[in-house]
Parts: sequence; structure tokens; C-alpha cells
Amino acid sequence: MALSIAEGLNTWDPIRLYTDSLSLLQAMASTQPGDPLVWVLREKCLDLMTTRNLRLYWVKAHVGVMGNEVADRYAKEATARPAVDMELLRTTSDFQREARAELLSLWQTRWVQSETGRQTAQFFPLVDLVPKLHNSNTMQIITGHGRFPHYFKRFNISDTDICGCGSLGDANHYITDCRYTSDLRSKLRFDPDYPPSLFEAVTNLPILNDIVARVAGLLPNF
Ligand SMILES: [Zn+2]
Repeated sequence: MALSIAEGLNTWDPIRLYTDSLSLLQAMASTQPGDPLVWVLREKCLDLMTTRNLRLYWVKAHVGVMGNEVADRYAKEATARPAVDMELLRTTSDFQREARAELLSLWQTRWVQSETGRQTAQFFPLVDLVPKLHNSNTMQIITGHGRFPHYFKRFNISDTDICGCGSLGDANHYITDCRYTSDLRSKLRFDPDYPPSLFEAVTNLPILNDIVARVAGLLPNF
């Protein structure tokens, strides 16, 4: 509220704002994004500082600072009023929920439009804030970055991207049609036309782990 009043001032005198909330000032001084509401305040202050001489000060609460005590008195009077005479601001949790939904929506749009990470996107078409916990072997299938001929060729570690069976040796090859992994592959339960199903069944994870370990053993040690 004080910032809104400061924005509306017509004089060019320096503006000094006093608060007894040290934690708020510390949070606003931090460059790490924390509480979205604090971040909004911080942005508003920085914005105001581009045109006005604005300084924020901390004062100890209840120690005889007249303005502070007057503000306290008004705050207490307001709580005793019979009716609410101002629109309540959204709560922090409302704001956080909306910010999270907006963030997910932006992230999802970028994920769909991105040209990178397509190997991963085929298994995880929807972004999610819950981390996917996989070991280094299953991560190789998910990302395509692993001990596969296709990957070695891509980074000029090897001359060929062809598997010993004669087909292109990328991550998908070993989970769909390589004869060197057929016994393990046959245990996987998923729909090849719907790749996300591969990671929906947790019973597939140890099998994928074994497939990657076997493929690594087929290749020379670069
Ligand atoms: Zn093969």
C-alpha cells in the first residue's frame, strides 16, 4: 500500500519507507526467488527506483517511533471494525497455486515446441514438478544419451552408429527390435505406439536397467 501511495506522489523529494519487518527487507534484498509476493514487491520497488529516489529502512517495532506506533494503532483499530471495508488480497497460497499453474503451462508449451529433448518427450509428453527418479541406466533410455552406437557416432567417439545386428543403434532400437536384447525386451510390458507406457509400469524399470547394461557390454570401452 505504501508503494502505491509513493507511486502517486507528485513531488520529486526522496521517498523513505520505514518497516519493522526485518525479514521482509532481507527477503527483498535477496536475489533468489522466494515468496512470489515478496518478489512482486521487490520488482515494484526496483521499478519505482528507476524514476524516484526510494529508500527502505528498518525500524524496531514498539520502541517509541511515533509513526510506527500510529500505524500499529490504526492496524489494531481496523481489526475491531464490524465490517470489512476493503477487498482482501489473494492469499499467498492462492498466489503460489496460480503462479505454479502458469509456470507449468509455460513450461509445457516450451516442452511441446522445443526441438531438443525429443527422445525424453516421447516418454514424458507432459511436464511435471515431481522429479522422476531413475538410475543412470534407465536415464540413458529416457534421454538417449548413453552407451549406444548412435550416441558415440554423434559425438565422434565412434565411426559408426550401426548396432552389431546391422540396424541403427539408438536407444529405441534396444527396447524395440534388437536381437541382442530380445529375451529381455520380451519381458517389457508397454505399448510401442504409446511410449509413455514404458515408464508407467514400474516392473519395466529393472528390465530396462538390464538392457542398458547388456548393450554397454556389447560395445568396446571408449
Ligand atoms: Zn541391434
